[in-house]
Amino acid sequence: MSIYLDHNATTPIDGRVLDAMLPFLREQFGNASSGHQPGRVARAAVDAARQQVAALVHAHPSQVIFTSGGTEANNLALKGVAARMNPGHIILSAVEHSSVRAPAIALQKQGWMLNEVGVDAEGRLDIENLRAMLDCLPVDSAKILAVMLANNETGIVYDSAPIAALAREFGATLLVDAVQAAGKMPVNFVDSGAQLMSLSAHKIYGPKGVGALIVDKAIDIEPMLHGGGHEKARRAGTENVAAIVGFGKAAELALTELSTRTVQMEALRNYLEARLLSELPQAIIFGQQADRVPNTSFFALPGIDGETLLMSLDQAGLAVSSGSACSTGDVEPSHVLSAMGVTAERARGAIRVSLGKDSRREEIDNFIDCLKQQVRALQSFATVAYA
Ligand code: PLP
Repeated sequence: MSIYLDHNATTPIDGRVLDAMLPFLREQFGNASSGHQPGRVARAAVDAARQQVAALVHAHPSQVIFTSGGTEANNLALKGVAARMNPGHIILSAVEHSSVRAPAIALQKQGWMLNEVGVDAEGRLDIENLRAMLDCLPVDSAKILAVMLANNETGIVYDSAPIAALAREFGATLLVDAVQAAGKMPVNFVDSGAQLMSLSAHKIYGPKGVGALIVDKAIDIEPMLHGGGHEKARRAGTENVAAIVGFGKAAELALTELSTRTVQMEALRNYLEARLLSELPQAIIFGQQADRVPNTSFFALPGIDGETLLMSLDQAGLAVSSGSACSTGDVEPSHVLSAMGVTAERARGAIRVSLGKDSRREEIDNFIDCLKQQVRALQSFATVAYA
């Protein structure tokens, strides 16, 4: 029996979401741009989904641009806004997802300067440092600021209100990546003070390959895809109606079930961490004192290699994630942990457990029992190997 505890990577599709999608993969196959009846049915379904997605983040439906996911939404936000300005400064938190970091790095080739604002040992953003950084930039240069709402590795939540206040004061356009926050905490586009917000369906029990960028009316963005006039000419391409319908349904469920899901996941996460610390007291939980989304626990076991532990847990039927990114064959320690001042050696022992709305206590018990066994085995192996 396999146990899935990696919901920040992706979530299983909810049966109710699949049911909503199926007619649009079968008989309702119309193109949402066609003027005939099948086309109108598809258009109505896309419009309904737009309302559901907007409602999840308290935005207006006209502010929703459907994309192929969170990665495209972040790329469209940064590149689309940058294209309408003279190159200036992009300021990112040091813990942003690669789908924000990589386009920001790419924009350097077009003359944009990149600045990173650090976090403290608990992963919290250094607001004073952000103010000082903004204060040093030329008053008349264009500024784009990107700070996520919840971190995918640690689950740490960033309060966008003081960040948005600074953005306003210094005339910066603010992108908030809400991909990991949506469905795990209340998200309000208006209250966030952001002009741009990214979302992804597959993190909230919807299908993969669909997401959205929420754009304030006052913001002018250059499309990345040119073609027909889809999405009010901001993202060309025939709409993936079934996926959009699934995203809408997933958003509706995430909103109506938010409080039950969060209460349940938080109780389970607290149970997991209490058992972890009592049975493996050497464990270090990252960001435990910070505000976190209720489903995520990121911890390290000193002296244990996270990748090796991940593989042995996988063989035992447990799917979790490690804190390392595998790039070009080398295992790099997490940039999030590095930003928090965690040593590379400790970061290499990091394991992320991310619970889902349907995770159960028995699964946590199985996980902890298995983790203890695997840690003991790895420790005895290390003792023999180095004896
Ligand atoms: N932003 C964050 C914080 C994420 O965790 C992810 C995915 O892991 C993304 C963006 C990218 O979303 P997608 O997988 O839909 O491209």
